[in-house]
Amino acid sequence: MALGKSAAIVIGSFPLGESDRLVTFYSRDFGKIRGVAKAARRMRSRFGSALELGTLGELVFFDTGRSELVRVDHFDITRPFQRVREDLERLAQAAWIIECVARLTAERDRHVALFGLLVRALRALDGSRKPTRVAICFGVRCIEVLGHRPRLDACVECGRVYPFPRPALGAGGLVCEACARGGGDTLPIAPTTIGAFERLRALSWDEALALPLGRAEAELSVLLEAQVAGLIGHSTRAAKFLREVQRLSPAADERA
Ligand SMILES: [Zn+2]
Repeated sequence: MALGKSAAIVIGSFPLGESDRLVTFYSRDFGKIRGVAKAARRMRSRFGSALELGTLGELVFFDTGRSELVRVDHFDITRPFQRVREDLERLAQAAWIIECVARLTAERDRHVALFGLLVRALRALDGSRKPTRVAICFGVRCIEVLGHRPRLDACVECGRVYPFPRPALGAGGLVCEACARGGGDTLPIAPTTIGAFERLRALSWDEALALPLGRAEAELSVLLEAQVAGLIGHSTRAAKFLREVQRLSPAADERA
């Protein structure tokens, strides 16, 4: 039975049987790992509150080799990102970020850059950064790190070089008006939003968080969710949760 250790973030947590918990981690050294935390739901569990979604910690696990599931031995909190849990808007954006990582990655497929990006995004949400912006900066980089960078310099269907009138964004990148009419899931994208998208992926993380985006911000949120939905085959659950939160508290975003 092999012992594994890595910094990791909880990206999924479900009750299992009477007292256990099935936990999914995104770890720096092993990528996505699923494991059983024995007796994690007992009152005086040694895991305490460590297995809450979004917690960063040091994971120690046993790989039995008999199943894909590991046995979680220890998970010691490094950063609980408490502030994220105290604000619905932050929580909803964190849920979207975590769902992207959970759904777009395969088990035991290591991506150190994606782990670093996830930690940076949760840290930014735990601070005073505007939650929508953090999710956008994360989304732009996440699809890129995983090899799904949308093409923004030409129509992906016919190769027509951008700029062209009435561009749309589909799976893989820009689509011209004629190709968009030919079918496929595309959404209109304003030229200023294309420019903002390009700048966000060229800038450093901190510069991207501070870049003035104006109206392009709301459009980018919608387009990034559509890109992720296209990759996983359906809308994210977090996007629905986010819409509910924004409906209940429309000013949440401006307040942040
Ligand atoms: Zn075209």
